[in-house]
Amino acid sequence: MAEIIDGTAVAAAVRAEVAQDAAAFQREHGRRPALRVVLVGEHAASQSYVRAKARAAGEAGIDAETLARPADLSERDLLALIARLNADDGVDGILVQLPLPDHVDEGAVIRAVDPAKDVDGFHPENVGRLVLGEPTLEPCTPAGIVELLRRTGVETSGAHAVVLGRSNIVGKPLASLLLRRGLDATVTVCHSRTRDLPALARQADVLVAAIGRAGFVTADMVKPGAAVVDVGINRVDDASRERGYRLVGDVDFDAVADVAGAITPVPGGVGPMTIAMLLANTVEAARRRAAV
Ligand code: NDP
Repeated sequence: MAEIIDGTAVAAAVRAEVAQDAAAFQREHGRRPALRVVLVGEHAASQSYVRAKARAAGEAGIDAETLARPADLSERDLLALIARLNADDGVDGILVQLPLPDHVDEGAVIRAVDPAKDVDGFHPENVGRLVLGEPTLEPCTPAGIVELLRRTGVETSGAHAVVLGRSNIVGKPLASLLLRRGLDATVTVCHSRTRDLPALARQADVLVAAIGRAGFVTADMVKPGAAVVDVGINRVDDASRERGYRLVGDVDFDAVADVAGAITPVPGGVGPMTIAMLLANTVEAARRRAAV
């Protein structure tokens, strides 16, 4: 049976460190690091993510405010809101919760955020720095995965890391991070056009699933002893639950746990780390801005 990697516990440790950093920042600068979360529309999952982020930020001593706007907010008005937050010297971090409504150009919104306040790490300037291996605000989910691996002692140096999924928010930035000097993994990235994905997955010492399909990774796709990181968050119908569904990952957890050496659960794995890294990025952004 695999070791279960407890993302909630690791995230709690990170959050406690961030709270100390935020308190030190407040002592030095007379104000708390400030995060503004922009939520457009009433996407149910986004609402719950934003609530969790704002609550965690408040608990860490970050001044967090959610700016909720209706789904029909024009792109122009959204860009104007971002320009206002960019210009506000008391704001350190800006997070625009994705996805945005169809009439809004997501890329334009991402590019509009001041890179120094881009706590999601999605701005092309920050993505460029990430790929170059320069210090930057790193995207929260990939940074959280790396932190989880580090703190639980999963060796990445020389390991073959296979990342399932090539999205701009998880797969691609994670591949860049794992390739960095210091982490030194040999990285393979798979996607929907990959030929014989199971054969590649079976070679992985570290297998990361970020594709968004419940139970996609089965036991026969996992090398015995591998570390398996499950990023997926999928709703599956469950009449026994009051809300009618439950959340599962991309990995067939019970079967894979019999083969893997270590495995992250869903919930309680990568999700809490994503939030913890957002808090860390906010304090980091505040520090860097104060140092300029
Ligand atoms: P995207 O939908 O943007 O990307 C999914 C990727 O998976 C794509 O690269 C796609 O390939 C690939 N893919 C889809 N189906 C298959 C398949 N059958 N075989 C091989 N590859 C496939 O998803 P995200 O990266 O945004 O998110 C992935 C999952 O992680 C989701 O469940 C999401 O909810 C979750 N997530 C969790 C977070 C957390 O904090 N725990 C944070 C962010 C996301 P192609 O490019 O060819 O289409």
